[in-house]
Order: sequence, then C-alpha cells, then structure tokens
Amino acid sequence: MPEEGGIMSRRPLLAGNWKMHMNIAEAEALASAIVRASIPEDRDVMLAPPYTALAAVGRVLAGSSVMLGAQNVCWEEKGAFTGEISPLMLQDVGCRMVLLGHSERRHIFGETDEMVNKRVAAALRFGLVPVLCIGETLDERESGHTFSVLERQLRSGLKDINPGAGNDLVVAYEPVWAIGTGKTASIEQAQEAHFFVRDLLAGMYEKNIATQMRILYGGSVNSDNVDSLMSQPDVDGALVGGAALKADSFIRIIHFNS
Ligand code: PEP
Repeated sequence: MPEEGGIMSRRPLLAGNWKMHMNIAEAEALASAIVRASIPEDRDVMLAPPYTALAAVGRVLAGSSVMLGAQNVCWEEKGAFTGEISPLMLQDVGCRMVLLGHSERRHIFGETDEMVNKRVAAALRFGLVPVLCIGETLDERESGHTFSVLERQLRSGLKDINPGAGNDLVVAYEPVWAIGTGKTASIEQAQEAHFFVRDLLAGMYEKNIATQMRILYGGSVNSDNVDSLMSQPDVDGALVGGAALKADSFIRIIHFNS
C-alpha cells in the first residue's frame, strides 16, 4: 500500500485543456496573460492548445516555466495516418506533455484502451510526458463499476509501459459525468479514486514511482473548488477544461491555496 498523502514530494501540476477552442490570435493572448501572471515556483503549469495554435503558443511560452502540451499523439512517426499528429511534430513545436485517452477521445471518437496504450508508449519513446486520462461514466458509477473501470483503463493504458521515474508519466482521474457539466466530484470521491489509483500503481511499479507519480483531478474544476480539491492528500493537480479558457479563472486556479 502506498502511504496516503505525501503531496509535499509531488509538485502540483495545473494543466489547461483548451480542446477545440481558440484561433491563433486568441491562443497567443491567453498564453501571454498566463506567462505574465507570476506563477509560484513550487508548481508546474501546462497549456494544451489546439494543434493549429501549438507553434504560436510555443513561441509565447519559450523562456517561461509554462509547458506546452498537446491533446493527442499518434503511435507512428510518419506515414499515411490522415488526421493524426506525429510525436516528432510535437517535439518540433516544443511540446513537453501530451493528453492521452481523454474521455472525449474515448467516447466520441471511439479510442480503445489498446490505442491509448500505443499512444502512451509512443509519447514516452519520444520524451513526451503522457497524461493518461481515466474515468468512469455516470452509468458505471451508479452500477458500482467505478473501480473496475479505473483498474481496466489504468492497467490496459499502461500495459508493458515502464516509466523510468515517477515524473515521466502523469495520470488524470476525470469522472466522465463531471467533465464540462459543472458537476464536480466531491473531495471524498476524488480522494478515494486517487488513493485507489495510487495503490494500483504501487502494485504495478516500484513503490517510489507510485509515491512520486502525479495524479490530477479533472471535471469542472474552477476557481471556487480548486482549493478544496487540492487539499486532498492524493490530489496532485488539476486538468481543467472550461475554466482554463479565461485568463482570470485559470490564473486563480494556478494560484490555489496562495
Ligand atoms: C477536461 O477537458 O479534461 C475537463 C475536465 O473539462 P472541464 O474542466 O470543462 O470539466
């Protein structure tokens, strides 16, 4: 069993998922506002703009501590994969992280655990930190399957994956019923799921990897609920959609507890 808590050893990560929003000028303006906000030194910030704005946002973030992230990556380097993006292309624009297995990819575009696993492997091969998103639907929660779904998505997504260190990989627990709905998991529900995930990781990898690995919560995080979510010992950060699209709310989220 991992020790509960230990947040002091894990740098909080506040990640903005801009989804399919923002043209290039809007993306540059939002990224500039975030770079200008003084970010406390004890935390990491990542922005995942749409592909069309990656290069422009990368230029805005250059020289700052804010990391560039992408919203997906292909498991192949190049070739006939219409609509996909190569890990080399993400490296080219300066991406450091990549969201994988987001519930919108799984549920709207039919991504399977097997595809997500291939994407995780490719990300690591190319030095990108995968943010593996897992989470149950409302039906799955109400029928008592939350933990079996989380276990399946985690074990399949990480099949044959050996992160070298705890910070090579990030997991995001995002209950599907909380994404974009304004309905946030209670702090008890979030902590329970995060502890369960860390316990699974402790069984899959060396204990120190599980202790070091960051587990983000995602699902209607906003400036009002971020402090209480972040007070939970196994909640190491937030993956934020809607509230990351406005500079003031995301800057407040970045400044949780300060
Ligand atoms: C997300 O896109 O991962 C997300 C959690 O969205 P929202 O914050 O809008 O619920």
